[in-house]
Amino acid sequence: MKELELIYNSFLAGSRITTDSREVKDGDIFIALKGENHNGNTFAAKAVAQGAKHVVIDEVAYNTAPQCVLVPDTLQFLQQLANHHRRKLNIPILGITGTNGKTTTKELCHAVLSQKYNTIATKGNLNNHIGVPLTLLSMDASTEFGIVEMGANHPGEIKELCKIVEPDYGIITNIGYAHLEGFGSYENIIRTKSALYEVVKEKSGILFVNGEDKLLCQLSENQKRYTYGIDGHFTNGEIVQTTPYLVYALKTHHGQLYIRTKLIGGYNFDNAMAATTVGMYFNIDPLQIQAAIEAYTPSNLRSQLLKTNRNTIILDAYNANPSSMQVAISNFAEMKADNKLLIIGEMRELGAISEESHKNIVELMKKNHFPQVFLVGPSFETIANNYTFTRYFPDTDTLIEYLKVHEIRHAFILIKGSRGNKLERITEYL
Ligand code: ATP
Ligand code: MG
Repeated sequence: MKELELIYNSFLAGSRITTDSREVKDGDIFIALKGENHNGNTFAAKAVAQGAKHVVIDEVAYNTAPQCVLVPDTLQFLQQLANHHRRKLNIPILGITGTNGKTTTKELCHAVLSQKYNTIATKGNLNNHIGVPLTLLSMDASTEFGIVEMGANHPGEIKELCKIVEPDYGIITNIGYAHLEGFGSYENIIRTKSALYEVVKEKSGILFVNGEDKLLCQLSENQKRYTYGIDGHFTNGEIVQTTPYLVYALKTHHGQLYIRTKLIGGYNFDNAMAATTVGMYFNIDPLQIQAAIEAYTPSNLRSQLLKTNRNTIILDAYNANPSSMQVAISNFAEMKADNKLLIIGEMRELGAISEESHKNIVELMKKNHFPQVFLVGPSFETIANNYTFTRYFPDTDTLIEYLKVHEIRHAFILIKGSRGNKLERITEYL
């Protein structure tokens, strides 16, 4: 396709690719994507005026300048361009998907692999049909290793992303319940995520598999794989401590190594072990793996430990679904501390299993004898009435008003909920 060649040659010659018309500068390539609320094509003339070298559009009505390159579908074009680039790069790429822990695992793998290779990984959480191609296009001739996080909220999505990425190595962190609304069923989630394993198999690549996870072991049974965990065949480790931060012991040729992470929660053991295993496979010295993992501090809202003047808080307000909620609550229950308080925001996008999932969560809290729980969001409304240890708030603003009047002191607080709750806003009132 001559359009692809034209754009790729400019890209190789140094033109930056952007999909945001506000960012277009002299010599850039603007790819006009269509979003829910905007049509990039309408910014074509503006991009030209800002100095774009090429403006890739897919609506003939906007083909008004010589810089415009008309293609059938701009999103597909971006993906084809990324795949073309991926093939030309010819470097090993590790694909990461799963329900929970993708970004943390990706960041840890990045930290570990960077000890040996010039590694480029997905920035932040740019793990969808646009973020994935942009991640590939952020790699260049100096890149020695690529790590790509792939997310999904509808059936078949991981296969589509894998076609662009063509990963040689794969990690599925776990397969749990999330985005049921989009997937329809748990079987669909399994089928969608396991596409990563299939694609790696087609490439005769290698999988890193949590040996403790029966489903993942089953799905990867006939493949070249390296397992990790307590009884992992390739890497062996165990949790030593989880309060406040995770410490785990790793068996290595240096003897037992204690890795003292800055990660909250026993569930991060799986994420850390995945990265440890990747490092061991690529012959990175265990001491370097240790240094990389110990230096990593999670970014915004993903299980952060905060100390305010009045309270200690585990802030995990980044996201929530039934499986991550369950591990977060169980982990909190195991932590040794007095005066525990849970502030739990509703889990969104669960469709038909929403009511049952919220009820299960409250039951889990009851089983663990938490004295006080604040529940935020309408999904909890009817459920909250059935329990004496819960206090219900329709939204985060109502909770803030309550906290302004009822000061909380000397408590150990877990804050967790779906992104939409924006629960992080309450920390300044604690
Ligand atoms: P997203 O789907 O939003 O991209 P993600 O899969 O990238 O999420 P992270 O950002 O690494 O996941 O972690 C988000 C939250 O998921 C954490 O704050 C934690 O509550 C939970 N979590 C992380 N790792 C695990 C795990 N291995 N098992 C269960 N829950 C986890
Ligand atoms: Mg993520």
